Amino acid sequence: MYRDHTKVVQIGDKKIGGGNPILIQSMTNTRTEDVEATVQQILALEAAGCEIVRCTVPTLEAAEALKEIKKRIHIPLVADIHFDYKMAIAAMENGADKIRINPGNIGSIDKIKAVVDVAKERNIPIRVGVNSGSLEKELVEKYHGVTAEGLVESALDKVRIIEDLGYDNLVISIKSSDVMMCVKAHELLAEQTNYPLHVGITEAGTLYSGNIKSAVGLGIILYQGIGDTIRVSLTGDPVEEIKSAKRILKTLNLKKGGIEVVSCPTCGRTKIDLIGLANQVETMVQEFPLDIKVAVMGCVVNGPGEAKEADIGIAGGKGEGLLIKKGEIVKKVPEAELLSVLREELENWK
Ligand code: SF4
Repeated sequence: MYRDHTKVVQIGDKKIGGGNPILIQSMTNTRTEDVEATVQQILALEAAGCEIVRCTVPTLEAAEALKEIKKRIHIPLVADIHFDYKMAIAAMENGADKIRINPGNIGSIDKIKAVVDVAKERNIPIRVGVNSGSLEKELVEKYHGVTAEGLVESALDKVRIIEDLGYDNLVISIKSSDVMMCVKAHELLAEQTNYPLHVGITEAGTLYSGNIKSAVGLGIILYQGIGDTIRVSLTGDPVEEIKSAKRILKTLNLKKGGIEVVSCPTCGRTKIDLIGLANQVETMVQEFPLDIKVAVMGCVVNGPGEAKEADIGIAGGKGEGLLIKKGEIVKKVPEAELLSVLREELENWK
């Protein structure tokens, strides 16, 4: 597995790379200068399962806010910097556990060196990020457009600049909203470097298309053993990104924990409001830290069979449902009580 052999990088109290668990990241969408709003959002992200959080640092006030934010959160904080090297330095001086820069938009080598010197002094990792939207003109011309090869060359050029300054505490990210270009870029990059990779499909879109594009793209990349941290980018509440990232990792058997809900697609045999029930169950189970499978099935034809595969399940009847536990029918429950009975079972789960 590629990820078993990537360089280990320490971000705050977490280690990534070298076969460490893949960590889930998100990014706040509050004004970083607004400490209260940013802390509240990070705490909500933590509660959902976020393991590393990134905040934009566009002003000195935002850089200074990091100090207060850090005191009130419990996960490593990454500062996202564009254009102004002074923000990168200020972010590190105010406690950022990692910085994300694109050396291409930081400017002269002196400015990059000033950032690298502070990172070196404080042993703060730098994520070198390149994005298909800001690929250099020369590489666009060389490869006749924005291509995976161009993105990889751009990323490795930037990494070399920092290595030449004597620093290799690095993470790389290459992002493209074109899913298959992103996949190819990661395959090419993984062949040419052993730095840990942060993986995501950028500008993936709204909940619907963003989740599908991220699941397909991240699924292919992660399945090949590539990727040490991930972000699902969604146009929406960042907490949704965490839920989706957890689901993607769990589906690939790359993360344990959390209740998995399986539910049938419903058909003409369904005699209860199974769609409503399945949605309620999916929301309800999120508060239980159990590693089990819950089945929500529409009828007694396939329901009991499927529910037997699960740790606990419901098979709908007419205005009622069967509660099935570890393959055994436990009791009949009126439809209106199915959710509360299931909740009670989970509360007392042993
Ligand atoms: Fe239809 Fe029953 Fe299958 Fe659900 S489990 S799709 S209700 S046959």
